[in-house]
Amino acid sequence: MKKIPESEEELKKRLTPEQYEVCFLKGTESPFTGKYLYNKEKGIYECVVCGNELFSSEDKFESGTGWPSFTKAIKEKNVKLRDDFSHGIHRIEVVCGRCNAHLGHVFDDGPKPNGKRYCINSVALNFKRI
Ligand code: FE
Repeated sequence: MKKIPESEEELKKRLTPEQYEVCFLKGTESPFTGKYLYNKEKGIYECVVCGNELFSSEDKFESGTGWPSFTKAIKEKNVKLRDDFSHGIHRIEVVCGRCNAHLGHVFDDGPKPNGKRYCINSVALNFKRI
């Protein structure tokens, strides 16, 4: 795994502008544009910033929303959840448990049994085939 923390300058050098925008300025990639939206290969989705393992292909599902969607994190502690009151609505933000990079949001309209939908930007992820 990559070391943390890095300076803003180092991060900007290492990440693409889009990665920096999503992970550190809480941006959102346009729906139906992310490279992992339709990825059905078996593997692990890691944090694009620090390499922390975040989601498994086994928990990925087709939500129809335009972003990669997962029913849960690979381990509960590998992500952190935070209240987000931006845009005048209350949402739960999902960040990397190790480096705090913004990943997306989690909603309560996922499939049974746990009913969660982790709505995650492809840009914030790096896929590792297993
Ligand atoms: Fe990270």
